[in-house]
Amino acid sequence: MNYNVDEKGYYGEFGGAYIPEMLYPNVENLRQQYLEIMAEPSFKKEFDQLLKDYVGRPSPLYFAKRLSEKYNTKVYLKREDLNHTGAHKVNNTIGQILMAKRLGKTRVIAETGAGQHGVATATVCALMGMECIVYMGEIDIARQAPNVARMKMLGAEVRPALSGSRTLKDATNEAIRDWINNPVDTHYIIGSAIGPHPYPDMVTRFQSIISEEIKWQLKEKEGRENPDYVVACIGGGSNAAGTFYHFLHEKEVGIIAVEAAGHGVDSGESAATSVLGKMGIIHGCKTLLMQTADGQITEPYSISAGLDYPGVGPMHAHLYKTGRAEFIAVTDDEAMHAGMVLSKLEGIIPAIESSHAFAILETRKFRPDDVVVFNLSGRGDKDLDTYIKYFKL
Ligand SMILES: *Cc1c(COP(=O)(O)O)cnc(C)c1O
Repeated sequence: MNYNVDEKGYYGEFGGAYIPEMLYPNVENLRQQYLEIMAEPSFKKEFDQLLKDYVGRPSPLYFAKRLSEKYNTKVYLKREDLNHTGAHKVNNTIGQILMAKRLGKTRVIAETGAGQHGVATATVCALMGMECIVYMGEIDIARQAPNVARMKMLGAEVRPALSGSRTLKDATNEAIRDWINNPVDTHYIIGSAIGPHPYPDMVTRFQSIISEEIKWQLKEKEGRENPDYVVACIGGGSNAAGTFYHFLHEKEVGIIAVEAAGHGVDSGESAATSVLGKMGIIHGCKTLLMQTADGQITEPYSISAGLDYPGVGPMHAHLYKTGRAEFIAVTDDEAMHAGMVLSKLEGIIPAIESSHAFAILETRKFRPDDVVVFNLSGRGDKDLDTYIKYFKL
């Protein structure tokens, strides 16, 4: 079984590039060049150097002693929360800004929901002196004022999406419209392992530094490269794709993907795409997608803004369909509780997205000698307001 993308851009029956005719030259140009560019020694050198000196990699692999004692198994945390800008997203935006430069682009656009990807994009545009326009739903702009301010300080222009529900999917539509109108000078930085081929594969490769590091770090600590399990939360699926990548074809490594159940999988307010989704097309790829009987995209819900996405990247849809990965859905309450446990036991306040992954320790039993690596995708500073309201702190 192959879990990587094939030559046609598919993971099993998922993926592809379902795009308007007018975007075809842009996407095709990227598809023809991305692997070659990524393989250039000068590209690799610049990417590695920036990950080291600017992002602060390698991120530590930390043995969580007290958490391990509580749950009677060996828990390791991959500390993506310690990256510059506070999450894994910057691994991808660094890679894509270098790609944009190699493609001769001078202008960058992006879409953002909660603002985390917008900030990561604005950051690398400041770093490279590139023009940056971030599309964001009008409602999200009002809800995410600190991230809007960050993007402005970093020199980006934040353009409101005024149509539809004025949230992420409308921002995405605006970004696509912009790209159609500016095909020559503009690169579109997509923020997760989604979108038309080659985006899911390109983003996965940039994020695969996470599992690459886990391998040698675990070898140092446990004398073996492969853990018994790797665990990550899934919104669109980029931190999970990076965490799983080098273990996909290692049969002895169990892969666990954690989705947001919101108020419960059957509550009507959820983002558990694998369970609730059906095959459909979203943002240019064929994948599992939450939709009504007549194919309208259902509005997802999660307390965590980063997991609040109605689809899942095509690689993950394939991992689900083939049974290679175990999918677990975690509710708002379970995630918030897990965030508090990690804070109290390890002195680490996690992003609420990441808290979803840790929450499985309450219900999913592991053996005492199992080595379980959790990707701690981001830090909790951005979620403090939500923690305050939830726990009445
Ligand atoms: C954006 C985000 C996620 C979800 O995005 P993926 O593409 O699924 O990784 C998870 N954790 C954090 C901290 C985020 O900012």
